[in-house]
Amino acid sequence: MADLDAVVIGSGPNGLAAAVALARTGRSVAVFEAAGEVGGGTRSAELTLPGFTHDVCSAVHPMGILSPFFRELPLDEHGLVWLSPRASVAHPLDDGPPVMIYRSLERTAAGLGVDGARYARLVAPFLERPHELLADVMAPLRIPAHPVGMLRFGVRAIFSANRLARLLFRGDRARALFAGCAGHAVLPLSQPFTAALGLLFAITAHVEDWPVARGGSHAITHALAAYLKSLGSVIETNRRITRLGELPPARAVLFDTSPDQLARIAGDALPARYRRRLERYRYGPGAFKVDWALDGPIPWRDPSCREASTVHVGGTLEEICASERDMYAGRHSERPYLILCQQSEIDPSRAPAGQHTGYAYCHVPHGSTIDRTEAIEAQIDRFAPGFRDRILARHAMNTAWFEHYNPNYVGGAITGGVADALQLFNRPVTRLDPYSTPNPRLFICSAATPPGGGVHGMGGYFAAQSALKRLARA
Ligand SMILES: Cc1cc2nc3c(=O)[nH]c(=O)nc-3n(C[C@H](O)[C@H](O)[C@H](O)COP(=O)(O)OP(=O)(O)OC[C@H]3O[C@@H](n4cnc5c(N)ncnc54)[C@H](O)[C@@H]3O)c2cc1C
Repeated sequence: MADLDAVVIGSGPNGLAAAVALARTGRSVAVFEAAGEVGGGTRSAELTLPGFTHDVCSAVHPMGILSPFFRELPLDEHGLVWLSPRASVAHPLDDGPPVMIYRSLERTAAGLGVDGARYARLVAPFLERPHELLADVMAPLRIPAHPVGMLRFGVRAIFSANRLARLLFRGDRARALFAGCAGHAVLPLSQPFTAALGLLFAITAHVEDWPVARGGSHAITHALAAYLKSLGSVIETNRRITRLGELPPARAVLFDTSPDQLARIAGDALPARYRRRLERYRYGPGAFKVDWALDGPIPWRDPSCREASTVHVGGTLEEICASERDMYAGRHSERPYLILCQQSEIDPSRAPAGQHTGYAYCHVPHGSTIDRTEAIEAQIDRFAPGFRDRILARHAMNTAWFEHYNPNYVGGAITGGVADALQLFNRPVTRLDPYSTPNPRLFICSAATPPGGGVHGMGGYFAAQSALKRLARA
């Protein structure tokens, strides 16, 4: 490991993406990972019973299949197979059939009744050149390469999801659908810019069916790691880094870590003022997640819910707004909004024949220790009566579990820190090049950099570009 060009601390999708982007240019790279396995938030395990493979964190990957960087890489040659559902999203309601998002805009609009044409008018213009839009959106704040599309997106994205849904749609179905997509923001849906994620997720679902990775989400990071090794790089697991001095000599160090760890590990190598700014970073709410081994499919009242990789469980726009407002205000909603994934419907390898895996989480206040299992199962039972009778075993994770599993999940925050209007682009601190630090050798590449949470590797990719510029100058 003598004379390395770069060392990466952490092997989540961003750390591996950074390492790959560097190694592809011929740079020598080593990755140090605290856990016994690569992958960070993109790992899978038998959490419940033998033969049931659960995604510990990330499950469904619209941003992965559409990532401008991943799309350039030969990940299929290293074992990654994306499996598509028949629908990206199902959103059950108490009255009437579930709202569905299919790849076909026409078919989706047909299910939205009075708002079908309005939904189609909202989304269709973005589907003319979706990859151009995604390249601009999944990037740090800069002059967009395709300003017309970004402007069209931006004038809608600045609204709160609640306001845009009410302005655009007349009926409960389209409003609920939009709230379900925007709810991934982990913010109250009354906040400005929460419409951005609602719109973005709706657009992605008409470009690619939101896929799962065959065999488990770990297939994504295993493929990245295998490709990285094929480029000559080294990965060491079970190596938690606590001080810079533990690393071999390298011309650049990239942190796939939370900002607080960057401050602690770098210590005096960073000015005290910058470290204080890192320490002020806001991580935001956490998550409570349950995985189930089931002796059959989830018994949705309307079986078309089984077509979707993701089910937004939470009822109407009003209910989802109330749930997310509660958790942000430090309360635990009676009827939480859930993100539920049903990987084994798409990938039978996840469970023994005829049996299934179930996965759902809700957002909870930062550091919450409240057990949400009962509330989560009651919400599912509301739309899938008899769900509880199908449970063979369950595994629950609270915010402390998450933080212990991965030190990046501070207080159980699962998407790399609050992504509100103030911190979405100004992450981890306000800086022209957010991946660089005042120390020319040190960079940050985790989800605490733009474009934020999700398995897309773009934070890693852009941090690597920043490091490569410095390496070229050195
Ligand atoms: C419950 C849950 C569900 C999610 N669902 C989805 C989803 O369906 N789709 C999606 O796209 N995204 C999802 N995400 C988000 C996604 O997993 C993360 O945004 C993504 O993994 C962030 O990648 P990263 O590389 O920045 O960091 P991480 O994935 O957090 O990886 C960081 C790595 O660095 C290691 N590390 C940290 N500190 C040190 C240290 N000091 N020394 C050595 N190693 C260290 C950690 O062990 C870890 O392996 C989900 C996350 C969670 C928790």
